Amino acid sequence: MPDVTSETKLQRTGERAVQRTGSGSSPSSWGLGDGQAIPWEYAPAPESREIVTIKERYGLFINGREVDAVDGATFGTVNPATEETLAQVAKATPADADKAVRAARKAQRYSWGQLPGRERAKYLFRIARILQERSREFAVLESMDSGKPIKESRDVDVPLVAAHFWYYAGWADKLDYAFPGRVARPLGVAAQIIPWNFPLLMLAWKIAPALAAGNTVVLKPASTTPLSALLFADVCRQADLPPGTVNIVTGPGSIGMHLVTHPGIDKVAFTGSTDVGKKIARGVAGTDKGLTLELGGKAANIVFEDAALDQAVEGIVNGIYFNQGEVCCAGSRLLAQESIVEPLIEKLKDRLSTIRVGDPLDKNTDVGAINSKAQLEKITELVESGKAEGADFYQPACDLPERGYFFRPTLFTNVAQSHRIAQEEIFGPVLSVLTFRTPDEAVEKANNTPYGLSAGIWTEKGSRILSMATKMKAGVVWANTFNQFDPTSPFGGYKESGYGREGGMHGLHAYVRLEDR
Ligand code: NDP
Repeated sequence: MPDVTSETKLQRTGERAVQRTGSGSSPSSWGLGDGQAIPWEYAPAPESREIVTIKERYGLFINGREVDAVDGATFGTVNPATEETLAQVAKATPADADKAVRAARKAQRYSWGQLPGRERAKYLFRIARILQERSREFAVLESMDSGKPIKESRDVDVPLVAAHFWYYAGWADKLDYAFPGRVARPLGVAAQIIPWNFPLLMLAWKIAPALAAGNTVVLKPASTTPLSALLFADVCRQADLPPGTVNIVTGPGSIGMHLVTHPGIDKVAFTGSTDVGKKIARGVAGTDKGLTLELGGKAANIVFEDAALDQAVEGIVNGIYFNQGEVCCAGSRLLAQESIVEPLIEKLKDRLSTIRVGDPLDKNTDVGAINSKAQLEKITELVESGKAEGADFYQPACDLPERGYFFRPTLFTNVAQSHRIAQEEIFGPVLSVLTFRTPDEAVEKANNTPYGLSAGIWTEKGSRILSMATKMKAGVVWANTFNQFDPTSPFGGYKESGYGREGGMHGLHAYVRLEDR
């Protein structure tokens, strides 16, 4: 254990223990910010994978049953931390997607869509409860399939998933109160296409409000992370959900587009890249389908000179290194007021030396594996462009596991507005630091991207928070915190970050047609 003196010094680094390596076998240390390091052996704390039974092969979930694709084709899903194939998963064809839409339509017309709100609520409460009961199983599976650290899937993703079902269960029999004076009718069958960064959480954001409002769904998970959605199919069976209410089709992006353009679909909800979002918008153009798009981001995290710097450092780290930076609302651009940039960067570098990169199933891991080889290549390419364009590159010393897709927490200083790393969504653990002198300059720079999903403001002045928040073109603005999510709070973007809101009553609104009484 470190002695008392070093413990006192550690107050400055947020009392975080340090392991400099992911393997657990190399030297570890406490980062003290004074160039010194006290050796510290961190014992491995692996979460057992015994709680999860991963089948060799998974089918599609259509009409309450697990079925093979009509041509029997499958694809492999890989654990990005080990590069091992976890399972073979059915690769849906358009004919399979058609079957899923037919099943959803039938359930909407004859079973789920006919249930009174109070009955729908019972099912959603039951799903929430089962998710809580099986939370460890979901957390381990999610970490294995996506690469995210177990402490995040266990403490953030899965609790939020259950919270979304609890929350929307509460609305199912209260639609008259949500939309006073109007009659809220379900839209019908929703096609929901979700990404790989928060596979189960995005499923919950989409399925819970849709079902609460009386819609049925066909969900397409991302190809690199299908397993938690397929385990959710098991929860639907366990909850005795009427067959066809939830259908899950795994397969390539083209199956997503088949659903988007399908005449049997009434509503499309998508979370993912701006490029695919634009294609989807074109796919529904000229129809009366509802559409919500939650796309990319390049959030500014703005730190003023009067901010509590140690607190801001924690917020910056949480903003960009949480979930390996694979977060649409990640605070990927740090805008620091010129007068404090030097101490802030010094504290940040100090804090970076305490981040543990490695096995996602180790409970001490802060940064897990990048979701796929393709994503790792994209991050690497953008980081190389940052170096080539002249920004100053910094990574803490840390070993990475020999196998798997890992990337060190990265910091770029002296970044110009024109650099690609200041403009493009990297979707990795890479922070670009820019500076400003006045609040107006901060607003100008923060809004100077094609995106507008989120932003952070760090200052002691309440009036400045309010003034900045109204000027930021961002759907969510956090003040003296970052990456806070709650099912009651709407989330969504401006500009190329998409349109429509998920969460809260706004999220319910996206799944109803309001008629006059
Ligand atoms: P995509 O936008 O391609 O994937 C998101 C989902 O859309 C997946 O289910 C995908 O299926 C599906 N999809 C792909 N192509 C189509 C299509 N033509 N029509 C309908 N659905 C489609 O993201 P990527 O996985 O390619 O990631 C690329 C970049 O996107 C990342 O580097 C990141 O910058 C950004 N991104 C942003 C996210 C966000 O939350 N804002 C989330 C994920 C990525 P499949 O997996 O089978 O290809």
